[in-house]
Amino acid sequence: MDKDYYKILGVNESDTAENIKTAYRKLARKWHPDVAGNSPDILLKFKEINEAYDILSDKYKREEYDKVRMFYDYAKNGSSSYEKKQTKETEEKSYSSNPQNKSFSFKWGDFIPKKQAQQTYEKKEKSISKRGINIYAEVEISLLESIQGVKKVINVVQTGVCPKCGGRKFVNGTLCQYCNGNGEHSKHKKFTVKIPAGIKNDSKIRLANEGGAGINGGQNGDLYITVHIKEPYGCKTEGLNIIKTIAITPYEAVLGTTAEIKTFEGKYSVKIPPLTQNGQKIRLSGCGIVQNESVGDIIIVVEIRIPKTLTNEEINLYKRLAEISSANIRDDFYDRQD
Ligand SMILES: [Zn+2]
Repeated sequence: MDKDYYKILGVNESDTAENIKTAYRKLARKWHPDVAGNSPDILLKFKEINEAYDILSDKYKREEYDKVRMFYDYAKNGSSSYEKKQTKETEEKSYSSNPQNKSFSFKWGDFIPKKQAQQTYEKKEKSISKRGINIYAEVEISLLESIQGVKKVINVVQTGVCPKCGGRKFVNGTLCQYCNGNGEHSKHKKFTVKIPAGIKNDSKIRLANEGGAGINGGQNGDLYITVHIKEPYGCKTEGLNIIKTIAITPYEAVLGTTAEIKTFEGKYSVKIPPLTQNGQKIRLSGCGIVQNESVGDIIIVVEIRIPKTLTNEEINLYKRLAEISSANIRDDFYDRQD
């Protein structure tokens, strides 16, 4: 076992699926070749992150992996990683008292001659077929795109069989130089993904067999694309209706005004009538989202706001207003609650 998937994702054996997902997403964003560059090292790193997530995000694969990992640790160190934590201190003590102990670690290969080990390994690698790993990608679309459907091009790092050694890791008995004995080769591949109309936020689209290549005739893994929907600033949708809040000043609320609003469907001039109350709704029929034969409305929600800075003259006018005001809105308010 040459890869520690927990280490790769920077998580612990005890971490929850949610923590693992968060760690993965952070790393996947950081090391995506679109962001981090295209060097072979980065491709390899990105591939490893994906591979680790493929195993650790799947309950059954993770259980299997934990078992193998524990067994491997046991064989290698004479204790599992769990036990190791507890005995680390005593181990260190015995190391310092007997330096010879430091070299006490073995690989299975140490017990059989090198040539034979290599042949056994090659033979084993040839005969076992393995399913390719699943690959995970993310794409962000606008709200309008989610309603109408859209096609998006995404760039994925796909792992296939090494073209030099055909996945056998060795060429004429020596380690393949092309893939450094990994048997795999990573490359970029662009996919055009059709995102259906009406898709929900965080939905996953599966492209079967577009993940990592299967080994020795094994099936390919799948590609999973998570779709994130970006809500436009200041707009919300409810079905085909667009809900938009607009701010007006107290005097605009009293006297009425015309306000220009912008939604992702276009610009509109909205007449705010005199004596408009806070939270009042104005409906623009048939101006909402169009889908198939139906069309929604725009619903404007009016919010009365007081400007953060007022001049002395304005303050004086409010003072004057306070002196001459005849209305008693609190009485009205409590009457209405009864
Ligand atoms: Zn190779």
